[in-house]
Amino acid sequence: MATSMNRELLLQKIREAGVIGAGGAGFPTYKKLEAQVEHVIANGAECEPLLQKDREAMTHFREEFFRGLETMRDLTGARQVTIAVKHKNADLIGLWTDQLARTGFHTFIYDDVYPAGDEYCLVYEVTGRQIPPGGIPVQVGCVVDNVETIVNIANACEGRPVIDKIVTITGAVAHPITTVVPIGTRMRDCLELAGGCTVDNPVLLISGVMMGGVSSETHNPITKTTAGLIVLPADHYLVQRKTASRETYTRIGHGQCDQCSLCTELCPRYILGYPIEPHRVMRTLLMTGEAKERASLWAQYCCECNVCSLIACPESLDPRNICVDAKALLRERKLSRTPDELAELFRPPHPSRKGREVPISKLYSRLGLTPYDRKAKFVKGDWQPREVVVPLNSHIGRPAEPIVREGDSVQRGDVIAKVDSSQLGCPVHASISGRVTAVSAKSVQITA
Ligand code: SF4
Ligand code: SF4
Repeated sequence: MATSMNRELLLQKIREAGVIGAGGAGFPTYKKLEAQVEHVIANGAECEPLLQKDREAMTHFREEFFRGLETMRDLTGARQVTIAVKHKNADLIGLWTDQLARTGFHTFIYDDVYPAGDEYCLVYEVTGRQIPPGGIPVQVGCVVDNVETIVNIANACEGRPVIDKIVTITGAVAHPITTVVPIGTRMRDCLELAGGCTVDNPVLLISGVMMGGVSSETHNPITKTTAGLIVLPADHYLVQRKTASRETYTRIGHGQCDQCSLCTELCPRYILGYPIEPHRVMRTLLMTGEAKERASLWAQYCCECNVCSLIACPESLDPRNICVDAKALLRERKLSRTPDELAELFRPPHPSRKGREVPISKLYSRLGLTPYDRKAKFVKGDWQPREVVVPLNSHIGRPAEPIVREGDSVQRGDVIAKVDSSQLGCPVHASISGRVTAVSAKSVQITA
């Protein structure tokens, strides 16, 4: 375990290097590692179809990965460190023989199901502990980090800031790849690295087909949390479903939901014991006034995984988005379950849970992804774009404030934006060398 002086120094290095959760949430890592826990879990589940960047990180950066895990163990005082991977990636364990023998770390092989990477599912699978509703892993003695974040922790301890991102670029592209690009690289440049789009009307699913956003804009930058780009044609089933307007999914849901409750029966959070019942949220489409608000509490612990909308509902309705809207209403009205309600409603996992998990193979066939199920070969390279737009607000907390001005020269790795050390957040660095060509509260543009 690290001495308290070493501990402070390491946490400061991790903050100063700008390490945040690379798996999507963007929570500043130094803050997470301030906790003392029993168990560190490396989240290598990578459950979004088509993405392969965590597999490649655990393959090509395995020394850094293990060093990062050792740092996490030392900082948190954890007695056990577990690397969780899916069956499809179990062959990686053979690559780690020396490191596993040296460190005594454990491995956990997860079924090829979705959403295995959800922290609530992962912590339960690995430790048998249920995170309290709305809680975080530290409440049950765990710290969970995505594998790329762990690689970044190792680099940070050696003075290397987070300036690159591992991304998978796949779908309707000529040559799917997983590669490393400077943060702020425009998405259109990433598509060129994959040989360009192979459809006339490409749409980007950003960071995942299940939980990711949809965009036709290719000038947006890669951020510290972008896991990949999946190109699909505009008329693809997933694009159509994900771009339906609120008016459309609400109207159709109101008219067609027959309350069969399949959305609830397959909801990963429901079968894990949480008080989330999307069919009851759908029922609120028929209600008005106070009744509507109360009933929407059944949406409160939805993790937005999309199983209900894209897999469970036989009518192709959209309970996920109805839950997202209900959660926004709950936040606006400051409505929440009381502790007594939670004590009554939070249960052990459903006895049939394992039989209700959604196999990844089903996602591919149901969502029309089988034609895109190709290896996204890892290309390390030292490619650099001519311009980057580095976002200043990828992390949770206070956005970083620029400390450079238009016309300044910067070197790759220089700090270009800072957050006061009393605030939650971390600095942002130049990802290429060049001249600052635009500065705003949200980003800094650098041209080589
Ligand atoms: S599965 Fe579909 S039809 Fe059945 S209750 Fe849920 S939203 Fe309604
Ligand atoms: S998106 Fe649907 S299936 Fe997923 S947690 Fe929310 S209600 Fe459950």
